Amino acid sequence: MPTDLHRYALAHLPTPLEPLPRLSRALGPRLFIKRDDLTGLAGGGNKTRKLEYLLAEALAQNADTLVTMGAVQSNHCRQTAAAAACAGLRCVLVLRGHAPAQITGNLLLDHLLGADIRWSGDRPREAVFAETLAAERESGRRPYAIPLGGSTPLGAAAYVAAMRELKSQMDVQDVRFDRIVFASSSGGTHAGIVAGAEAIGFRGEVLGVSVDMAADDLCGLVAQLATETATLLNTPLAYTASDIHVNADYLGGGYAVMGPAEREAIALFAHTEGLLVDPVYTGRAAAGMIDLIRRGVIGKDETILFWHTGGQPALWAYAEQLRDEG
Ligand SMILES: *Cc1c(COP(=O)(O)O)cnc(C)c1O
Repeated sequence: MPTDLHRYALAHLPTPLEPLPRLSRALGPRLFIKRDDLTGLAGGGNKTRKLEYLLAEALAQNADTLVTMGAVQSNHCRQTAAAAACAGLRCVLVLRGHAPAQITGNLLLDHLLGADIRWSGDRPREAVFAETLAAERESGRRPYAIPLGGSTPLGAAAYVAAMRELKSQMDVQDVRFDRIVFASSSGGTHAGIVAGAEAIGFRGEVLGVSVDMAADDLCGLVAQLATETATLLNTPLAYTASDIHVNADYLGGGYAVMGPAEREAIALFAHTEGLLVDPVYTGRAAAGMIDLIRRGVIGKDETILFWHTGGQPALWAYAEQLRDEG
């Protein structure tokens, strides 16, 4: 029997599953979108689903503070700050590097949501994270540590549930997908979708477009996390890297560096469907999907689901580079 996990309700679920008729006409294949940018938590995104389970565990452990880490424009940190506020907990964020001159996008929202922000400066972020946790404990707090992206087996389990949600929408709308395409970074979303695919009998391809990692590394990470997630849910199954599909051809200038491909994807989604994808994650995944369609790797006769994972607040941090895209 699959295990039922405790969740703390944060997200507006189910998120819509919608066709993309004008983008489909522009590109060829029949395209759909799963709107996890509309999970609703202070700007929404995929971390909200994971945080429902992580926050429930934090509260069960009687924690009074959530501590996590991320990049300066981390959507995960912003959603963690909002989740902490919802539950009346403190939130401490360890962000990479130095405080920027301009406070905008997700960083602005972190401030507004009341997070206590620490900068790792020139030191490794993990070291500052460990120190921060130790200092919290020493001062008598009860911190709950959330690793990068909330990508633990418990966090990933949220995307097994999301796959069940998708399955009932597919049944109601009578649609089947040849592939599910999405942005993959810390691996939790990917691992949950992989384990969830097994749970619902999804036979199409689960294709993560890597945002920052080499394909081999991300495949290994996702395989291990999917294995641990299946074990946690009492449906044990061992995944190996060869079971995991990653495309790392779209890393461009590196993590969070927006290039021409992301800019084109942002403009195309906006102009054809009135949809906003972000410069770091969903814009990169969309750019990858567009290129795979143009090169014929994704066939024109296919039906594809693009899983939108959020990230729109980061658009404001790229305003200078985006203002000529109109
Ligand atoms: C974190 C994030 C992802 C990647 O999800 P992981 O579970 O970390 O792989 C994708 N899109 C957006 C907008 C994100 O914030």
